[in-house]
Amino acid sequence: PAIRELLAGGGRSFSFEFFPPKTDKGVRSLWRTIRELESLHPTFVSVTYGAGGGTRDTTVDIVERIATDTTLTPVAHFTAVNHSQAELRNLIGRFAAVGVRNILALRGDPPGDPMGEWIKHPEGVEYAADLVRMIRSYGDFCVGVAAFPYKHPRSRDIESDTRYFVEKCRAGADYAITQMFFRAEDYFRLRDRVVAEGCDVPILPGIMPVTQLSTIERSEQLSGAPFPPELRARFEAVADDPEAVRRLGIEHAAGLCRELLDQDAPGIHFITFNKSTATREVYGLLDAAAYGASGNAAPMTA
Ligand code: FAD
Repeated sequence: PAIRELLAGGGRSFSFEFFPPKTDKGVRSLWRTIRELESLHPTFVSVTYGAGGGTRDTTVDIVERIATDTTLTPVAHFTAVNHSQAELRNLIGRFAAVGVRNILALRGDPPGDPMGEWIKHPEGVEYAADLVRMIRSYGDFCVGVAAFPYKHPRSRDIESDTRYFVEKCRAGADYAITQMFFRAEDYFRLRDRVVAEGCDVPILPGIMPVTQLSTIERSEQLSGAPFPPELRARFEAVADDPEAVRRLGIEHAAGLCRELLDQDAPGIHFITFNKSTATREVYGLLDAAAYGASGNAAPMTA
């Protein structure tokens, strides 16, 4: 089913994000994780597209196998960087051929340094909105886009970031998923800005539980935003005790999810790093079923 139909069903969406592994061991571990999380009946699962477009074949292979071998609904992340329009069209055709009609359309970052100069492929597209239009021109696709609670690192200011985000939605996006964040108010501010521009595209919060202190640095690199200092201090206070760090991370993530869902977030998108334990613990603590998880209500055929 299209993600827009699952989101329109009234229940909350719970979804899990994976990345394409580089080794055989990584592949085995990913499939173990997928099987472990399948029993939670998520609304959908998504598979990222490697930096610089480097994992295109692996991403296609994984989403295909999810569509054919599991009860899960896969969403393929898909970036425009380093691809000509002919390559982008070819890839869209490959997703369709393997039965994947849900795509998260992204611009992507330059390979190497994500904040390096963005150079458009001479025959490519400039912005994610162009990719959204291209995918929608094929008709039967459901398209998601990225949203940034702390603005995209390349955006001049919050106002232009919001304006371009809304334009991207109007280009044909059905829903958005946010970059990770750690305070519910940061999500609500983003949502308020977008609603104030007259846009009602559902925005799914992207949540990454902190399980060790190094995750904090990683989150800053990935999101381009500083980790909230008051929360960092709470983690640093238990830095000597890895189990306490982990427990705090799980409890904080569950509390954050509850706050978001209690104030009508349409669901939660968990960044799993291909491991199931932390996600399952957070999911269990927040009692997702009590929020009417749409994955439980919806037919889970691919
Ligand atoms: P865009 O929407 O094109 O925005 C990029 C910048 O251009 C922004 O500053 C925007 O404000 C500005 N802009 C947009 N339109 C205009 C315009 N008309 N004129 C002037 N400025 C404009 N990366 C990967 O490589 N693989 C992945 O799988 C992946 N998955 C992601 C999943 C999520 C949920 C998120 C939040 C990000 C993901 N990314 C992924 C990272 C993403 O590719 C980068 O953050 C990228 O730099 C921005 O992508 P975008 O689609 O938001 O770009």
